[in-house]
Amino acid sequence: MATCVQLNTGAKMPLVGLGTWKSSAGQVRAAVMAAIDAGYRHFDCAYVYQNESEIGEGIQQKIKEGVVKREDLFVVSKLWCTFYEKPLVKEGCQKTLANLKLDYLDLYLMHWPIGFKAGEELFPMDDKGMSITSNTDLLQTWEAMEELVDAGLVKAIGVSNFNHEQIERILNKPGLKYKPANNQVECNPYLTQEKLVKYCQSKGIAVTAYSPLGSPDRPWATPEDPSIMDDPRIKEIATKHNKTTAQVLLRFQIQRNVIVIPKSVTPQRIVENFQPCPFLLWICL
Ligand code: NDP
Repeated sequence: MATCVQLNTGAKMPLVGLGTWKSSAGQVRAAVMAAIDAGYRHFDCAYVYQNESEIGEGIQQKIKEGVVKREDLFVVSKLWCTFYEKPLVKEGCQKTLANLKLDYLDLYLMHWPIGFKAGEELFPMDDKGMSITSNTDLLQTWEAMEELVDAGLVKAIGVSNFNHEQIERILNKPGLKYKPANNQVECNPYLTQEKLVKYCQSKGIAVTAYSPLGSPDRPWATPEDPSIMDDPRIKEIATKHNKTTAQVLLRFQIQRNVIVIPKSVTPQRIVENFQPCPFLLWICL
């Protein structure tokens, strides 16, 4: 088993990264620094998480300390849906780069297959509480994403929350310049995404599993929801192999070549999640 997945650009993407959604300001800087110390080199960020500035501080601190160099890191971010109109895509990317204090991203994803009305409001709603979408077709946004590669702002581009049909639309686009390198989707043993993973991998599109631990801190969780971290079958496997439940859930993905981005702001869990198997301590060659 490898420690990285090779993207269709030739770049190597570490199989384990640190998730940062819900990692609050005041916590995420320390989490990023603890993760770098633990060996993480891959960070999953997004404009909409509103914490990229602090993530950038953590990264810069570790570069300053000489622990890592920029080129050792694999930083991912996502274009938010209010920037989907073609002339706004570059601005969305530049805001993220400024917040992260970086001059390029290793991978930049379209966060969702549908755009929202442009403007300051991250989740524009009408007076009935419905999202106001944008008329921009995803293929238009994709063309502007391709321009970011040509401008040297991002090394690779991809998508998130895209289904088979939406990916096919990009792949079949006349004049397509760059294929998506990655599709980031929700995935865990309750939602294996078997067909989508096989499809993406058959097209040379790497898959990243988000919420690989079932996202126990998601804002809409209710006490009645099933919890994969408490599933007796997963716990049994963990006990048998002398691993934690989280490590089993992460290993499930890694052994089918699916990248994982567990989120934690707890130093001991950050270390634990990087060791679903000892091989992860090896460096990407
Ligand atoms: P995860 O499945 O990663 O679960 C995070 C939760 O699990 C937190 O409450 C964390 O607590 C806890 N946790 C972490 N490690 C352990 C452990 N070893 N033992 C017990 N509990 C643990 O959920 P997310 O939804 O955050 O998904 C991961 C990442 O995926 C996000 O942070 C984000 O980067 C990305 N994502 C992308 C989306 C997209 O649309 N593209 C959507 C959702 C997520 P604590 O922090 O307190 O330690």
